[in-house]
Amino acid sequence: MTGPETLDIAIVGGGPVGLFLACLLAGKGLSVQVFEARSAVSPHSRAIGIHPPALELFDALELAPALIAEGVKVPGGVLRGRNGELLGELSLEGVSKRYPFVLALPQARTETLLARRLCELAPGTLRRGVRVGQAQQCGDQVQLTLHPENGPPESVQARFVVAADGSRSALRAMLGVEYPGKTYADTYLMGDFPDTTVYGSRALIQLSAGGVVESFPLPGGRRRWVARTDRLLPDATAADLTKLLHQRTGQYVPAAECSMLSAFETRRHAADEVVQGRVAFIGDAAHQVSPIGGQGMTLGWCDAAALSPLLENILSGTSSLDSLAQFGRTRLKAARRAAAQAELNMWAGRPAAGLPGWARSALLRALLASPAAPTLARLFTMRWAAPA
Ligand SMILES: Cc1cc2nc3c(=O)[nH]c(=O)nc-3n(C[C@H](O)[C@H](O)[C@H](O)COP(=O)(O)OP(=O)(O)OC[C@H]3O[C@@H](n4cnc5c(N)ncnc54)[C@H](O)[C@@H]3O)c2cc1C
Repeated sequence: MTGPETLDIAIVGGGPVGLFLACLLAGKGLSVQVFEARSAVSPHSRAIGIHPPALELFDALELAPALIAEGVKVPGGVLRGRNGELLGELSLEGVSKRYPFVLALPQARTETLLARRLCELAPGTLRRGVRVGQAQQCGDQVQLTLHPENGPPESVQARFVVAADGSRSALRAMLGVEYPGKTYADTYLMGDFPDTTVYGSRALIQLSAGGVVESFPLPGGRRRWVARTDRLLPDATAADLTKLLHQRTGQYVPAAECSMLSAFETRRHAADEVVQGRVAFIGDAAHQVSPIGGQGMTLGWCDAAALSPLLENILSGTSSLDSLAQFGRTRLKAARRAAAQAELNMWAGRPAAGLPGWARSALLRALLASPAAPTLARLFTMRWAAPA
């Protein structure tokens, strides 16, 4: 075992949230390293939606233009009822001065662009192919054991560790932090295909009798489809999904040209401690919300934006460790809000949402035509998450 070396901040996990935090801390005169277990970005893109508050945060890194250049600006969505009837459209026109849209960009590209920016700002900060296998708090430092893919174990010490190692966070388990939560009955099947619709850059939400179908544009003339299913269908094929889409929307989607297929469950979890001594949890390591509504990454990026100045101040001696307690409370409150919003989204997409189909359609039609529509647009684009 080699080491020990003392870092100011060690970030465990180079997913979207860990990389973003590292970019924010780069150039602040601190020694920062990101340890990422994977040797390359995962090509499987779970997240595609980037909300305006996140794009505004990316301004600090001058990264928004690069993301926008590769993504699709989604200016709003079309809502259809169970028989395909138009219930209305939701425009995102007023949600942000600079970014009045949700950006659709596969997570793999987002992570690649973040890693590239980090390399420009602070070369050598990201170490890929290095799994953190142990963490121990010792006085005013945290000791990590690293397992590089191609080399002997190493030991590093850091004045702070930020765990951005995802919903299955090993750091959480190592430090005995609980992650209580629940799994919902709502399950979905999703896939990416060539775009055969007339919707262009707009999203489609169709509240069909069998369950909601959602679809979003992707770069390169492709489209992501997400259909609610009665149960998790891990063995479903692309043809099963396209058949479901045809039954529910009448839309022809070519199964043979599917580039990604995934069945997923929905969960809600939150760490019972977001800060433990000199370790802070952010992103999915701190909280998981149902992906319906696409809020997870934006929520994690807001955690990082809130944590970055606190760490700087604590390390420079201008704030005490106690300032992190308020951070933990605020971030868990934001996660609860996102989780509640995701629950509302899932409720609206259930075949029987506690209301007869016609009543739900009438309610949504009235809402979209009412003066409350801009407020709804602000809610869906996480305006409430924007840092003060
Ligand atoms: C189907 C689906 C669709 C989604 N759609 C959206 C969407 O449109 N918009 C949105 O905002 N969110 C969406 N989400 C949620 C989003 O994917 C997550 O919130 C986001 O990936 C969390 O980022 P993270 O960096 O916290 O964690 P992760 O993306 O999980 O990254 C954690 C990283 O840590 C690494 N790691 C783990 N353990 C270790 C270790 N011991 N040592 C070193 N490295 C380690 C992993 O390899 C990984 O790279 C979706 C989720 C799902 C499942």
